[in-house]
Amino acid sequence: MIKDNFLKIKEEVNDQATIIAVTKYHSNEAAQEAYDAGIRNFGENRIEGFNEKLNALPEDKNMHFIGTLQSRKVKEVIDDLYYLHSLERESIAKRIEQYANHDVKCFIQVNVSGEESKHGLKPEDVREFVQTVSQYKHVKVIGLMTMAPETDDEEEIRNVFKSLRVLRDELNKEFEDITELSMGMSNDYKIALEEGATYIRLGSILMES
Ligand SMILES: *Cc1c(COP(=O)(O)O)cnc(C)c1O
Repeated sequence: MIKDNFLKIKEEVNDQATIIAVTKYHSNEAAQEAYDAGIRNFGENRIEGFNEKLNALPEDKNMHFIGTLQSRKVKEVIDDLYYLHSLERESIAKRIEQYANHDVKCFIQVNVSGEESKHGLKPEDVREFVQTVSQYKHVKVIGLMTMAPETDDEEEIRNVFKSLRVLRDELNKEFEDITELSMGMSNDYKIALEEGATYIRLGSILMES
């Protein structure tokens, strides 16, 4: 049951991080079950799913957009976009500024592992990107996001999370609003927590029994 999964993970998280239920493979009913268990943060990686869960769930939840967002699609979600975990291009920030009537909390997606298949900025390009998007007043960069590499090597995964934390710490000296770390999924959230995650994005381990 989702409730049992949630209670167990909540105890492990120990208030260190916000648990985001990633509902992309699950129905509105399952999302509602998560809500009833006490979950208030939900993540979707496509506009259709985002809108579906947004409308199905009660008002007092936070919807997180965790997938790639094309700049030409920004206006389709902007009214309900308060958390974006995948900022990686100026064109997205520009569109947010153009259409938003509120601030959007953004995580810059960083490709720490360097895998071709992964989205995100190279770590060395993040600082300049933060400066570039600081001109867009509705774009509030609050932290960094990454995905672990596809490997069973725990040390490799740990090093990726550690690198993201070090980068966050560096940036935080200059940009005081950059405090958050969105990292950790079902297979690696325990490592992510040990390395300082403040948002973990959980699909299967939470939503499946
Ligand atoms: C699907 C997805 C998750 C959750 O994946 P699980 O392995 O099911 O926990 C987390 N983050 C992103 C960006 C995703 O696309």
